[in-house]
Amino acid sequence: MRIKFLGTGAAEGIPAINCDCAHCTRARNEGGKLVRERNTILFSLPGYELLIECPPEIRGLINKHQITKLDGILVTRSRYDHIGGIKEFEYWPGGLDFLADERLFETIKREHWTETLNAIMFHIPYYSGASLYFSGFSIIPFAARRQQPIFGISVKEGDTRVIYTSDTPARMTNYARRVMWQCDLLIVNAPTFDKVYENHITAIEAIELKERVEAKQMVLTYIGHENKPHDELENFVSHLPGVTVAYDGMVIEV
Ligand SMILES: [Zn+2]
Repeated sequence: MRIKFLGTGAAEGIPAINCDCAHCTRARNEGGKLVRERNTILFSLPGYELLIECPPEIRGLINKHQITKLDGILVTRSRYDHIGGIKEFEYWPGGLDFLADERLFETIKREHWTETLNAIMFHIPYYSGASLYFSGFSIIPFAARRQQPIFGISVKEGDTRVIYTSDTPARMTNYARRVMWQCDLLIVNAPTFDKVYENHITAIEAIELKERVEAKQMVLTYIGHENKPHDELENFVSHLPGVTVAYDGMVIEV
């Protein structure tokens, strides 16, 4: 499958609004891979183009990458950086599937939904641990965090398995780790390098996770301004086999 990282920034994006930290200042002055729009990933699956997450920048990203075909949008949580761009789809020509857990969809409807979206979107509920079957591939969502409805997903096409963790802490269920076991590609949201926040895994912890679940490859994305700038992070992972740092526009085939 083909995976395109349209945006690779954490919740604040880089440069963050009115932030004068060294990372944001460099991004503002030098541009290129230092700039990160908020996280969104396009999976090209057999007969189905699936957008994962819908950040506020989605209109600009769809235009920039000339995306003319989409079949579904899957969201993993209800925070602004994951769903804030959904109203842009009021102007999407044609219908789209909207894949979200029931409880998650209730929150999204309350905070981000419109009447017009009802005419565009078909809500397809997904359930943690239950495989969502499509011809040619399947998706298994899993709880990425306790309490709150936040989901990682496992996408399986033939014998190839790709895991996207979404916003997971380092402490996760044994079930989630077993879903990840020996996957072909592990995509991890790692906003910080080694600074620990309760609800997010760090880049260092993600590298340990890759080893623990014996993932063949890992891509770090959802990089925040508290993490290292792209070139420094890339330099850090360069001696680690199978670890890549995503940048906006990066395409990977698995
Ligand atoms: Zn900053």
